[in-house]
Parts: sequence; structure tokens; C-alpha cells
Amino acid sequence: MAGARRSGRDAFAAAWAAALSDTAFVATERAVLLERVGELTDILLTAADAAELTPADVERVGAEVVKLRFIAPEAIAVTLRMVGDLLAGSSHLAGIQAAVASGFVRAVQEWIFREQEALRHSALDARDRAEAARRQSEARFRAMFSDAAIGIGITDTQGRLLEVNSAMAGMLDLRPEQMHDRNLVEYLHSDDPPELRRFFNEMVAGQRDHYRIERRFRKRDGSPLWTNVTVSLVRDENGAPQLLVGMVEDNTERHVLSEKLRHQANHDPLTGLGNRALFTERLHAAFAASNGRRIGLCYLDLDGFKAINDTLGHVVGDQLLVEVAARLHKLVSAPGRLLARMGGDEFVVLVEHTDGLPELTALAERILACVAEPVHVGGHRLTVSASVGIVERPVSTSTPADAMRDADVTLHWAKVDGKNRWACFDPERNAREIARITLSAAMPAALEREEFYVDYQPIVRLSDGALLGVEALVRWAHPEFGRLGPDRFIGLAEETGLIVPLGSWVLAQACAEAVAWARLGGIEPMVSVNLAARQVAEPGLVEEVARVLQMAGLAPTSLLLELTESAIMSTTGEPLGALRKLVDLGIRIAIDDFGTGYSNLAYLRHLPVHALKIAGSFVEGLRADEPDSVDAQIVTALVSLAHTLKLDVIAEGVETRDQAERLRAIGCDSAQGWLYAKPGPPEEINDWLT
Ligand code: C2E
Ligand code: MG
Ligand code: MG
Repeated sequence: MAGARRSGRDAFAAAWAAALSDTAFVATERAVLLERVGELTDILLTAADAAELTPADVERVGAEVVKLRFIAPEAIAVTLRMVGDLLAGSSHLAGIQAAVASGFVRAVQEWIFREQEALRHSALDARDRAEAARRQSEARFRAMFSDAAIGIGITDTQGRLLEVNSAMAGMLDLRPEQMHDRNLVEYLHSDDPPELRRFFNEMVAGQRDHYRIERRFRKRDGSPLWTNVTVSLVRDENGAPQLLVGMVEDNTERHVLSEKLRHQANHDPLTGLGNRALFTERLHAAFAASNGRRIGLCYLDLDGFKAINDTLGHVVGDQLLVEVAARLHKLVSAPGRLLARMGGDEFVVLVEHTDGLPELTALAERILACVAEPVHVGGHRLTVSASVGIVERPVSTSTPADAMRDADVTLHWAKVDGKNRWACFDPERNAREIARITLSAAMPAALEREEFYVDYQPIVRLSDGALLGVEALVRWAHPEFGRLGPDRFIGLAEETGLIVPLGSWVLAQACAEAVAWARLGGIEPMVSVNLAARQVAEPGLVEEVARVLQMAGLAPTSLLLELTESAIMSTTGEPLGALRKLVDLGIRIAIDDFGTGYSNLAYLRHLPVHALKIAGSFVEGLRADEPDSVDAQIVTALVSLAHTLKLDVIAEGVETRDQAERLRAIGCDSAQGWLYAKPGPPEEINDWLT
């Protein structure tokens, strides 16, 4: 019986375990479950067999079912049904079922309660943790916000300051609470261009999320605060702009430094005035202005500054410049005017708007007067003057470079015209000078290309009209300007020194022609060649003339060299020695244009001279009906003086028979002029000879 009962109990336990397993996911291992359920079956069987039912023992069965995690209503339903089957007929059945059910229910209640508690706890934990995290991040943000070295401000979309950290307030010399609720605009510098506001507007409109600009704020005392500002937009949950967060870096120091560097780059350290760079910038800006604008320049240079520097030293020179600069600054400083030092002792005044030239000449007058006041430096009382070049013109007709060049040229005119004065730019004078320079530059190549040629003019004996000689007169067949007379280029050639090779070339031409005429006519006419002062001063002159004569095969006695009065009077020392040597060779010397210079008559008798050529200007005044005119008296005196000194007299520029007649009557030896022939090609002289 015990064995049968035992196997019945195991079968029941297995069936019960299986039925329970159908009601829920089985967390317990199957063997363990079987064992547990077996034990519970034992409790049930024992209770059923007991004389009296102890409900508490049986309630454990229900509780154990719950402990095994079978908590679904199906679990108790299946359990009660199976207990009913197992213990059918037992008197305790109903009591047992009730006890199992109540144990089950209580255990489930407890389980639910525990679960709820656990849930409640974990929910509370989670909330605490989130709260702690929020507090932590808030604290971190606070610490960052308030301790940051960088200024931070938060505004609403109207620019109202919601929060400002102490760095931000400190930059403006304020406390954060003073700025709270005020509008950001109150702290911005009013000089900043309004277009900077554009970024703010775009951000508020939601069109941009970040921007970075340089902005100027106004500190409490009104002084500027230069900053770099980075602004970020914070949107609300719908994406609409809500807040603006601005990070502000104080840039003032860097700005001040860069301003200082800029100032240094644009100013002259000695005088503190603007320098060439600044001037050029302002000049270009003035020219960029609208049409109809006229600008003016006074370009000035101290006269003789180099001498002061050289004799009194650079320290005194510098002090003088500083003093002059200060005076000029006081004189011209006004809006729309700029005084700059261009270097050395050169200054320039730019007048950005003028009404016309008189305004500039008046300014130049005042500049000259202001500079002329004596300067006391280093124990010296210095009187200096300046020369001023003035340019005044509409900006529409010129460029900055042209204006500067013209001012420079005009300053040069003021210098060559005698210094301590102003000169105004004159386009005609400029054109003439440019032509001069162009000619001067073209001359060496012209000489090489043989663009020069020589015309000859007869010199005749007044008593019988016989040909005595010819004067060689150089001309330039300029490819562009046509035939140029010597007045246009001899002066230039003297300046550049080209007169030396040119003079040699003329001499060689004239000598060669003279030899040709001698062959043709049997007689050798005297050939006159003009000699410039510069040629006379040339060391190799004598050798050069001798070489040319020899090359041509012309006798020295057939050559007459003409020197102007000034050339011959300035001839002392070496050059005079050269003239003597030429005379020793047999060459003759004449003083050209006599009477137009300042001759030292006493000196004249010591000079190696053979003839005087009376300038055409005296001959012009000779008339038959005015035998005693001043010119007639001068010519008479000159002729008598020349004859006293045993010199021949040649009259120049004889144009009329009257003049020729008067000259002959006065006793003049020979003459030259249009009356006899104009200067012409050598062939015309051939006709005279044959
Ligand atoms: P100059 O030596 O006194 O030459 C005489 C000038 O008077 C020439 O001018 C001649 O053309 C001009 N003339 C001649 N007859 C008359 C006349 O009846 N009436 C007027 N009104 N003028 C007359 P040009 O050829 O223009 O020469 C000017 C000057 O240039 C010369 O004055 C001379 O000083 C210089 N020159 C000419 N050729 C040379 C040269 O080869 N070398 C140098 N160093 N100077 C030269
Ligand atoms: Mg002459
Ligand atoms: Mg002459």
C-alpha cells in the first residue's frame, strides 16, 4: 500500500508541476520544481490524513506556489482543481482548498506589495539621480559662467540682458546686477557702423545660428572697449529663436597696440607729423572723391638746409626741423588739411577741398612768413626760408601721381627762380621743360645718327664786299620737330656736356669744307667756328683742335674761334693757357656778341684775342637818318676801342644797306648778315668763290 501511495503521490506531483508550468514561464529548474511540488503534495496528503486540520500548514502550500513564481489566477485555479481531484472524499478537502487559496492570495498580495515597493524605490532613486545630475550640471554651468575670464551675456531676442557674468560687467567697469534687464544696445559704442546690427537681426530672425564680429562697447567712463564677440542662438523646443548667448573677449590691448603700430607706420618719429605713406593714402582718398572736387598741394622744401646740417651738425638740423614742423602744424592744422613730412627737409600740405588757386597762394604766403621767423636752436639764431611748389586742380582731370610729380617740378621752379618764394604749376612751362629734357636725352643718339648739319654764313669786307670768311652755324634736323636752330639745343648740350663731342664734330666739318673751298676758289677763306665755354675748359682742347686741323689739312691761320664774352672773361688759369697755346699754333680768336656781356675792358688787353664781333642788337639801331643815335655812338666807341687794341671788328646782323653804310663810315672792318647772305649749305659758299 505504501509503494502504491508513493507512486500516486509522484504522479500527482508531476501532473501538478506540468499544469503549473502551463500558466507561466518557469523560472525554476524542472528537477527542483518537481521536488518542491512533491513536498507540497506531501503537506496536502498529511493534512488530509490528519485528524484535525491545521489551516496554517496548508496555507503554506498556496504561498509556496507563489514563491515558485506561479502567480497567475490560472495557477491557483489549476491547483485547487487538482487538489480536489487528489483529495476527493477527504473530509478536510474544502478546508484544505480554502487554506491553499488563502495562502496563495496572501502571498500574491505580499508579492505585489513588494514589487510595488521595489518599483517605487527604483523610481525614487531615478528621480534623485536626475535631480542630482541636474544640480551638478547647473553648478558646473554657474561656476563656469561666473568664474569665466571671458565675458558672457545672455539676452532675449529683443537684446534685453537676462544674465551677465562678472567678467562681462567688469570689462565695462560695472557690476552684473547693474546690467540686468537693460538692453545690450545701451552698452555698444555709438560710432560703430550700423551694419554690424545686421547679424543680430539675422539671428533673431532665425536665419543664422552663430556669428563672430569685432565690436566696440562703451565703458562706464565712456572710453571704448574693443572686443571680439561670438554669439550663439538658443532655440526653444519648437526651433524658434529664444535666447542669444554672447561670449566677449576684451581686445582693447591688442587694438591699442595695433593702433600704435599703425600710427608708427604712418608718422614721422622726429616731428610727429604724418609721413609719406599717410599722405599718399589721404591724397588717393581725396582723388577718389566725387567729381567737381578740387584739391591743392603746397610742396615745400627748406632753402639751404643742407648747409645748416653740414655746418652746425645733425642735432641742430633735427631741432630746426622739429621747430619748423611745429610751426607749420599750428599754421595749417584744420579739418580737410594734412601736413606731412615727406623726408629730409621736405614737407607737404594737402588741402582736400579748395575754392581755387588764390586759396593756395595765400596759404603759401603764410607758410613762407611762418618759416621766415628766426629759429633759436642749440644757441644759434637761424634764419631759414623755404620754396613752395603749388598745384591746384580738379581731381577729375588728374591723378595723385601726376599731382605729386607736378608739385615736385613746381617746387624745383621755385628753387631755380631764386628760392624763398612760391611757384604755381604752369602746364606750358612744364611742356617746354619736358621738350627740353626730351631733346637733351635724344642728342647723343642724334649725333651718332648724324642728324646735325652745319650751315655757313659769309663774312665780307665792308670796304669792297669781298668774301673774308664764313661762320659755321650748327643745326639739328630733328626727325620729329623738324629743323632746330642752335638756340634750342646749344644750351642743353652745354649742360649735359654733349657740346664737347658736338663742337668737335662741327669743327671737323667746317675745316673739311674750308679745305674743299680752298681747292675750288684758290684762296682759303677764314672759317669761323663757335666755341662754348665748356669746350674751352676741356683739358684736351688744344690737342683736339690741332688733330682736327691736321686731319683736314687746314692751316691754323685759316681758323677763327669765336668765344662769347662771358666764356672768355671766365677764362683764367688753365683755360686761358689753352687759348694762348691755340694762338701760338696760329689760330685766331674772336670775342662773339661783344657788348652784350660785362666785359672787363682793362682785362681785354691781356687776352690773346684778334677780333671783336659787335652784337647784332647794336647794328639794329644804326640808321642813316640818325647818325648820332646811342647805338651809333656805342658802335663808334667799340670800333675805336678795338682798333686801339689792334683788334679787327666784325659787325653782326647787318640787314640793310643803310647799316652797312654807317658801319663802313664808322670804320668797322667787316660784316656778316642777311644783307649779304643768310646762313646756308656749303654749296652756296661755292657760288661766292667762283
Ligand atoms: P652767333 O655766333 O652770334 O651767330 C650769329 C647768329 O646770328 C646766327 O644765329 C645767325 O643765323 C644770326 N644772323 C646772321 N645774320 C643775321 C641777320 O642779318 N639778322 C639776324 N637777326 N640774325 C642774323 P643762329 O644760327 O641761330 O645761331 C645762334 C647762336 O648759336 C650763335 O650765335 C652761336 O652763339 C651759337 N652757335 C651756332 N653754332 C654753334 C656751334 O657750332 N657751337 C657753339 N658752341 N655755338 C654755336
Ligand atoms: Mg658766332
Ligand atoms: Mg654772334
